[in-house]
Amino acid sequence: MHRKIEAVVKSDEALEGGGFLVHRPFPTERLDHFDPFLLLDRMGPASVRPGEAKGAPDHPHRGFETVTYMLEGESEHKDSHGHHGVIRSGDVQWMTAGAGVIHSEMPSQQFQRTGGRMDGFQLWVNLPRRDKMMKPRYQELPADSIPTAQGDGFTVRVIAGESHGASAVIDTRTPILYLHVKLDANASFEQRLPEDFNAFAYVIRGKVIVDGRTIANDHAILFQREGEDAVLRAGDEPAEFLLIGGRPLEEPIARYGPFVMNTQSEIIQAIRDFQSGRFGEIN
Ligand code: MN
Repeated sequence: MHRKIEAVVKSDEALEGGGFLVHRPFPTERLDHFDPFLLLDRMGPASVRPGEAKGAPDHPHRGFETVTYMLEGESEHKDSHGHHGVIRSGDVQWMTAGAGVIHSEMPSQQFQRTGGRMDGFQLWVNLPRRDKMMKPRYQELPADSIPTAQGDGFTVRVIAGESHGASAVIDTRTPILYLHVKLDANASFEQRLPEDFNAFAYVIRGKVIVDGRTIANDHAILFQREGEDAVLRAGDEPAEFLLIGGRPLEEPIARYGPFVMNTQSEIIQAIRDFQSGRFGEIN
């Protein structure tokens, strides 16, 4: 049986960091989170003039992971654990904040100079209680190291998990699936899903048809839990989407801005630790 649609959530538009536009299906008034996922932001799509690119200067995180996937543009990351990298079109950065990092996510100097198209995603993956205070970790994947599979009318890039014989190289703390699928017109894509996974798709461009319903870009399609696979089809135009899934943690969530813990007292501790300099600093 194919998974049916639980809900379709239209993105809100919001300003993030230093004032860049994001499309955000959650957290919003309609959807707080989708266990184990806490946030999805599409950064753009936008055309940025030279000198006008904006980013997110130094800020902390604790208790979860930030996963950045660039479609267009360039982002430079620096953090208080000495990690540094520039990610460009097709690259992925998987940062496990764990016990706490301070990082900056800024347009690269090159992109700031030239401007250009900006598009990409940031996903927040929650950490289970046992990993919330783990040592921070940083994984960076250049575009050409991301496994890709092809089938009848589709190409899938496997950022996390497995699809059509391709296995991701990213190491995740709990089982996660993160796919970027490009469909030819009228083609369809099937993905097996473990029965304990929550899964959703995010339409990047074109229209995607699920269970007879047509869904436009910048909508998230939340699947029901029942059924062994998800089937998504393109209409008369090519289409592109993310398919993201994971095993829910089913733990209490206490959330305050960039800190996501299990209890309110852990949030207060996070704020204290940050304010007393225990997250380190960017050198
Ligand atoms: Mn951040």
